[in-house]
Amino acid sequence: MRAEKPQSGWKVLLVLFALPLALYWLVPIAARLLLGIGIEAPQWAVPLVTGARPQKAPPPAMARPLDALPAESTGGFDGARAWEHVRQQVTFGPRPPGSEASRRTQEYIRERLKDYGCAIEEDSFTASTPVGRVEMRNLVAKIPGESKSVVLLLTHYDTMTGENFVGANDSGSSTGVMLELARLLCSTKRQLTYWIGFMDGEEAYGVWSDVNGTFGSRQMAAKLALSGELQQIKAVILADIVGERADLLRFKRESSSTPWLIDIIWDTAKRLGYGQHFVADETPIEDDHIPFIRRGVPAVDVIDLEYAHWHTPQDTLDKVCARSLGMVGHVLLESLPAVEKRGWSKAKKQ
Ligand SMILES: [Zn+2]
Repeated sequence: MRAEKPQSGWKVLLVLFALPLALYWLVPIAARLLLGIGIEAPQWAVPLVTGARPQKAPPPAMARPLDALPAESTGGFDGARAWEHVRQQVTFGPRPPGSEASRRTQEYIRERLKDYGCAIEEDSFTASTPVGRVEMRNLVAKIPGESKSVVLLLTHYDTMTGENFVGANDSGSSTGVMLELARLLCSTKRQLTYWIGFMDGEEAYGVWSDVNGTFGSRQMAAKLALSGELQQIKAVILADIVGERADLLRFKRESSSTPWLIDIIWDTAKRLGYGQHFVADETPIEDDHIPFIRRGVPAVDVIDLEYAHWHTPQDTLDKVCARSLGMVGHVLLESLPAVEKRGWSKAKKQ
């Protein structure tokens, strides 16, 4: 009798521990087999097999590319692709200069430009900032044209230093637009040469001033002035914060920008039916175009600073609209012939 007691205890143990354990292992194996032959495992078993979390409905932001205008209606510029570039940047997290996320962003830009067949020049420099010396890097895609005269398209890819600030619109949006423009421009030879500059260090550390902010564009303008190449640049077209919801998107004429360049872009927008987004009001904004304006290079800033989430942690991907990116890309692309014409006639006079 005494000998039977431990035996029944062993059976109880088996039922209490071994059986659930066996089930724990058998269920995933069975589920894997079932999945393998195309039969859906019960939803609760999927994470056991794949390690994945149960699928939830995708967040609304993921639906944004569907809002994009078809590329056929925007001169080939694909707003959904531009939006995807924004999404990728945001996945790297906050991207202040010198950070690991900044390095990953540079790598992303570099890889896309290589995909599109663009030649790339990089300038690594150390900026003196209010928080000390910071490593920064500008990347420039260079697309040779028939003339050496240059149209320089610009964006900044750094984000403001701040906790949880991922800068989806400021300025993941314009960086996405410039990458999509690179896809279209790098495979063609136009009358003028195109450079597409991805600037680091646009954002200030604390209070904005002439020497705090626009580190990348000041570096580029100064370097080009030194080498003498600055005089090749016939126009600078800067985009910044361009992905606001289409029903709120509103660009004002920036007061320091060169009037003939503003006119070309605003007239093109009107002609394409986007007149309500490019309004006649004026506003002064200091941005990456200023170092070029100060050196006498015609420049324009296409920026929507009425964005409610500007410089807040709410500047997230769900605020960025593929439709808006498509419209802005379309306007910039369709403005280029007139910009080239003006740049070409000026180039001949020199
Ligand atoms: Zn900013």
